[in-house]
Amino acid sequence: MPAKRALRNLHLTLSYDLSVRQSFAHDASGLELVPESVARPKSEADVASLLRDAPAGRVAVTPAGGQTSTTGASITDRGVLLSLRGLTDVGAVDDERLTIRVQAGVLLGDLKRRLAADGLLFAPDPTSEDDVTVGGAIACNASGARSLLYGATRPHVAGLRVALADGSVHELRRSRLEKNTVGYAAVHDPIDWFIGSEGTLGVILEAELSLLPLPPNVTGLAIPFPEENVALDFIIAARSSTTVSARCLEYFDVRALEVARTAEGAGGWAAGAGALVYLEQASAAGSDIPLDEWLTLAQRYGAVENDILVYEGASALRDARRLRHTVPSTMIERGNRYRAAGGRRVSTDWAVPYRHLKEAISQSRQFAAEAGIDQPVIYGHAGNGHPHQNFIARDAAELARMEQVVEQTLRRVVALGGTFAAEHGTGKIKRKWLPLQLTPLQLGVMKAMKHALDPAALLAPGNLF
Ligand SMILES: Cc1cc2nc3c(=O)[nH]c(=O)nc-3n(C[C@H](O)[C@H](O)[C@H](O)COP(=O)(O)OP(=O)(O)OC[C@H]3O[C@@H](n4cnc5c(N)ncnc54)[C@H](O)[C@@H]3O)c2cc1C
Repeated sequence: MPAKRALRNLHLTLSYDLSVRQSFAHDASGLELVPESVARPKSEADVASLLRDAPAGRVAVTPAGGQTSTTGASITDRGVLLSLRGLTDVGAVDDERLTIRVQAGVLLGDLKRRLAADGLLFAPDPTSEDDVTVGGAIACNASGARSLLYGATRPHVAGLRVALADGSVHELRRSRLEKNTVGYAAVHDPIDWFIGSEGTLGVILEAELSLLPLPPNVTGLAIPFPEENVALDFIIAARSSTTVSARCLEYFDVRALEVARTAEGAGGWAAGAGALVYLEQASAAGSDIPLDEWLTLAQRYGAVENDILVYEGASALRDARRLRHTVPSTMIERGNRYRAAGGRRVSTDWAVPYRHLKEAISQSRQFAAEAGIDQPVIYGHAGNGHPHQNFIARDAAELARMEQVVEQTLRRVVALGGTFAAEHGTGKIKRKWLPLQLTPLQLGVMKAMKHALDPAALLAPGNLF
């Protein structure tokens, strides 16, 4: 095997064992790619030495964290699968700067629970956070429900330690300049090159994360509505309101609501509802949650008032989060049942400016109806104009028809000023759609950057390019 010969001087042990390689061959995309070998470094020096040896042997290296990617970004059948899960050091909180240094393999959920015990918050909250690594969240610029208030991962990263394709290690800090006219804006903060780069520009070893004080009061509300359009109108009104300010506005269509109900054994709850909005409102110490204002707004849009649920306290909010997570995890399970027949879950993460949400959803439903395929399950971060559509393809032919419907939808989404990938990245599955959104000029600049940092194109081949 070529990878074995090229890396013979490597101190780090590579595994060629088929069962080990197969255990790293899947992520949440439904694809299977078995790597030629697997590296499981325990230190930054191991990673640097792997990369230093790789160019000489022209061996590709694909970094991986929790392997929750929905786009096939964390799996490969070329060269080494580099699992960063062994880099798990967590430093002390810097109380003055309100930051913490952590290695790339630390799980986001563990880190957040540890910080919460000290009254601190690392804000990014992908639904999958219990299985996601810090390195993976940064490499995908992950976001989540609460990104409505806090933004995606990018603004919460103050520093990065990265290894480039040649094995050199670089310490990068976000500039705090209020004014700067030196050079192109794109080079002002090299840290931003790596956030969202999906493993293609460098390997994230360690990060300095910016923290916030944990908000003292948070209330969650699950508000059922009779049908989709009024629920979406409610979301648009909530975004524009001056009396309420949600930190998340999550949408469940009638099918997503049914998935959650079934998984929770919540049988008859909100039985007549055609849609649900889950929202959270945070407030500062000493100030009240504007509950009456929320209920007045919900009433105005015809909410099913008797079935509104209120979530108060950390444990109740965790229950609500678990319920939300049930929807994608159930859909992944359903999709995996059809893998042998060439089927899988087809999942979108397009977003439009939130005022266009109703139009985009209604168009996408129409495209599915015209193609004669099952309507998708629609749920997610509607407050950011960012719903997820999940279809279940039962075989390869159905998959091809669904992908056509998705492409029709994406063309419409981009025409409405939206994006085809708001939070899950492009990976291998969506790279065919890059020209829908980026001009040849933008694609050319991206390729030039890739060439400057990874001239032999050894990092994460197949992701983005
Ligand atoms: C049920 C479910 C729900 C999800 N919900 C959300 C959500 O709400 N929001 C959201 O944003 N995403 C969500 N995702 C997608 C996924 O969890 C995120 O993209 C996450 O950031 C991936 O992290 P990971 O550690 O699993 O990375 P992996 O899947 O292992 O890798 C993802 C990408 O990052 C690169 N990478 C990983 N580690 C490093 C490193 N140290 N250095 C350089 N590159 C690296 C890989 O090469 C790959 O390109 C969800 C996924 C699932 C399965």
